[in-house]
Amino acid sequence: MKANDLGRGFELYQDEYEKKVLEVLRSGWYVLGREVETFEREWADYCGTKYCVGLASGLDALWLAFRILGIGAGDEVIVQGNTYIASVMGITINGAIPVFVEPDEYYSIDAERIEEKITDRTKAVLAVHLYGIPSEMDKIVNICKRHHLRLVEDCAQSHGAMYDGKMTGAFGDIGCFSFYPSKNLGAFGDAGAIVTDDEQIAKNFRMYRNYGSEKRYLNKVVGANSRLDELQAGLLRVKLQHLEELTCEREKIAERYLQEIKNEIIMLPKPRTGNGERNVWHQFVIRCRQREAFMKHMEDNGVGTLIHYPIPPHLSEAYDYLGYKPGFLLITERYANEVCSLPMFNGMTEREQTQIIEAVNCFEGKE
Ligand SMILES: *Cc1c(COP(=O)(O)O)cnc(C)c1O
Repeated sequence: MKANDLGRGFELYQDEYEKKVLEVLRSGWYVLGREVETFEREWADYCGTKYCVGLASGLDALWLAFRILGIGAGDEVIVQGNTYIASVMGITINGAIPVFVEPDEYYSIDAERIEEKITDRTKAVLAVHLYGIPSEMDKIVNICKRHHLRLVEDCAQSHGAMYDGKMTGAFGDIGCFSFYPSKNLGAFGDAGAIVTDDEQIAKNFRMYRNYGSEKRYLNKVVGANSRLDELQAGLLRVKLQHLEELTCEREKIAERYLQEIKNEIIMLPKPRTGNGERNVWHQFVIRCRQREAFMKHMEDNGVGTLIHYPIPPHLSEAYDYLGYKPGFLLITERYANEVCSLPMFNGMTEREQTQIIEAVNCFEGKE
């Protein structure tokens, strides 16, 4: 079994997707239209925000967010060290500088370590809800208020995740979403969006996504081509109607993993729990000091696994120019060496789940 199998998710609602594709193809209108507008309304409602603007990708949502907030050359943005590199590129494309903070035991930014990194150049915090686990938003919101910082959320992995009863994406100035096919709400191609309560920010995104133009051929700023197309928006609307079922299915798989995996060599993830917390299990990430042997063992037992992510951004070749050396972020680097994602996808059978659990439980490691 593969670590992820998107075809299974498609098969769950195949008839509805196929019907929508034909409907859009026959409509004669393909970019920014009725499907996009309706999806924007539905996604804003789902997130509990006033506005949503559809975009071409999650990375576009991130870099346009900092551009529109006026954060650029010489400004600093605080972000966790253990994230997908797109979070950091959203900052650096604008010439701003990422300031890395170590994660807590839930794989999100350690809120206790944010304030020591704030300088007079700090302009924003980027909170990443990695693996579908919400970041500690009450503390992060308070820090941003106290220090007059902007708050942007990277929700590419946290569709529907909640903290204190509120959806991720609704806490900050801007919530950035990716609908890349493997995400919890995945399209059938590239797609993204932002949500916000600020009317002016929403207006700016609409302008920037279309070459900086609000009125045809009147270009106010140097923008981007980051429009959402009707086909993806229509398909996202179909999937959104089933997102609750899809999330519950992930929760059930995670529950079985948490209850039935019993192996002292394997460190299980800790869901954030409380009154209003919801983890949406984009990935089910375990840690193992003998990761290479573990992954080989799983492979030998017919189970594919993946690493999210083997090289932390500060040690990536793309960021050589920032001058970081191994040892700068000890927790981040340890996680990068130990994390391993078990299969987690919609449409996984109970037998497959049992096979995965049994394979993990019979890993003995080497002495
Ligand atoms: C997927 C992802 C992105 C980027 O989204 P794209 O749509 O691929 O551009 C950004 N941040 C995180 C945490 C992601 O997982």
